Amino acid sequence: MTELDPASLLNPHIAGISEYSPILPLDVLSERLGIPVEKLIKLDANENPYGPVQAVREALASYDHYHIYPDPQQDALRQALAASMGVDTENVLVGQGADELLDYLCRIFLSPGDAIVNTPPTFGMYSFDAKLQGGEVIDVARDTKHNIDARTIRATVESRAGSDHPVKLVFLTSPNNPTGNWMNDEVLMDMLSLPTMIVLDEAYVEFADAESRADWVRRHDNLVVLRTFSKAAGIAGLRLGYGIFPDWLMSTLWKYKQPYNVNVAASIAGLASLANPDQVKAIVEKLKAERQRLYDLLGEVHFIDAVSGSQANYVLCKVLGRGALEVKQALEKQGILVRHYAKAELENYIRISVGRPDQTDALISALKAL
Ligand code: PMP
Repeated sequence: MTELDPASLLNPHIAGISEYSPILPLDVLSERLGIPVEKLIKLDANENPYGPVQAVREALASYDHYHIYPDPQQDALRQALAASMGVDTENVLVGQGADELLDYLCRIFLSPGDAIVNTPPTFGMYSFDAKLQGGEVIDVARDTKHNIDARTIRATVESRAGSDHPVKLVFLTSPNNPTGNWMNDEVLMDMLSLPTMIVLDEAYVEFADAESRADWVRRHDNLVVLRTFSKAAGIAGLRLGYGIFPDWLMSTLWKYKQPYNVNVAASIAGLASLANPDQVKAIVEKLKAERQRLYDLLGEVHFIDAVSGSQANYVLCKVLGRGALEVKQALEKQGILVRHYAKAELENYIRISVGRPDQTDALISALKAL
């Protein structure tokens, strides 16, 4: 019998993909830097420094049925979500973060060779998930103001329409990560007229001075809107995201969804958060005010050129006259964590998540002392 190398059985297109490099967890960072967890100033993953509202903490502490499997339909949570957005429960699906729903979309739509349009600089999971399905990622770069290049996206989608491998998904993010800018209604309308699926990622929409477009799904059967409890609701660690999908897509999504994908703690936390919108809003307003203060103070740091007008809970900054990586590492030694970029379209940038006022102050004095 010939010896089989079991690794040769692997799906070949997976081999060329590098692992997604996520942010390091708090305990690992703490040990590596020799700084206690509570002293770390974590401004690298757009988390909410206040965590969930009190009602969520109480609901989690008092729940008495953690030994029972979750509702596979997540009916209560989906109903509450639908009511909060003015859509039908039947059009809502929940997942372990918006990330899980992005993965479902790529699995449902893409066969090897099918294309997606990605608009860098933007969130990395779209291209990552598409490549896992053997998809082709067509990058259509944003312009100097970080707006999408709608004309090139249109030309790209139209040139592939009707081919063996059309553009099946166009990923649009508003507010965009990491640039923080909003995509206006006219541009979205234009994109919705294309013969493709539009995935609108609204992970940061609560921080914008504009409304969610979740209810647009009622009128556009090629639109999906994704949202999350990780940012405004402050429960990134519990992994809870949701999507609003057109009617015709729901039955396929239900086939892909693992029955118990969303755990009981995440469901309870999500429900308690939705039941206390005013408390969540108060935290969001605090973060929006702090975003402005952070931006203003960054103006006092001579080697930082902050991108104005962020509609999210972070500020993107160009580093001038010195290396962005060097700045990130110098801050890290002091327990202040920021995200650094060294990509073609974001050469020498850092992204700073909005923290509490004391965290902003520590960051600014560390930057000024560099
Ligand atoms: N979309 C964007 C634009 C994001 O920045 C993130 C998280 N960094 C996500 C989606 C994923 O969110 P979740 O935690 O719900 O998986």
